[in-house]
Amino acid sequence: MGCRILIGHEQGDDRDKAVLFCSTSMWAFGPVFESEEQAERFLKWCPVDPRKYTKGELMPRWAEFIRQEPEIIAAEERWANRCMDCNVSPCECPENGESLSEEREKRGD
Ligand SMILES: [Zn+2]
Repeated sequence: MGCRILIGHEQGDDRDKAVLFCSTSMWAFGPVFESEEQAERFLKWCPVDPRKYTKGELMPRWAEFIRQEPEIIAAEERWANRCMDCNVSPCECPENGESLSEEREKRGD
């Protein structure tokens, strides 16, 4: 039970969209997301369970999220591409060469 994501598409349109719903009350609420990923990103970003917001509170939070989303995506990409040794992108290892883990992979140990 909790705030879950429902995936579906608009009538006459094959592209997936997503909405939030409460699995306790089975009540859908909030914005229509462009994708499942965007809905997941919003839930991760939102400081509290979005069910706690009134509609009047949720709309400005949504607008704030949309403004910040390009930065959030860039941060996700930096994290995904981070150096596995120093956990930073770009790599800040002292030798500042190729990732040590990549070298280990090449050597096969
Ligand atoms: Zn590094």
